[in-house]
Amino acid sequence: MAVRVDGSKCVYCAGCVSVCPFLALTLNEVKIIVDEKKCTECGTCVKACPAKALSLPKKISG
Ligand code: SF4
Ligand code: SF4
Repeated sequence: MAVRVDGSKCVYCAGCVSVCPFLALTLNEVKIIVDEKKCTECGTCVKACPAKALSLPKKISG
């Protein structure tokens, strides 16, 4: 499991990319990419996302 990105809500601010302590997120031209091997589901990015585009179904939700 890893954090999920709702592409319809994401505004590409890159805020989540900079707050992830594990460098699991990257932003390309069209979307946020989650490296599932690096994501520890810490929830930091979920709280930081201004668009509530990130969620952890089993833990913290948007
Ligand atoms: S849940 Fe934590 S480890 Fe996973 S992408 Fe978000 S900030 Fe990074
Ligand atoms: S913080 Fe939220 S809105 Fe900003 S790039 Fe990440 S997922 Fe998209």
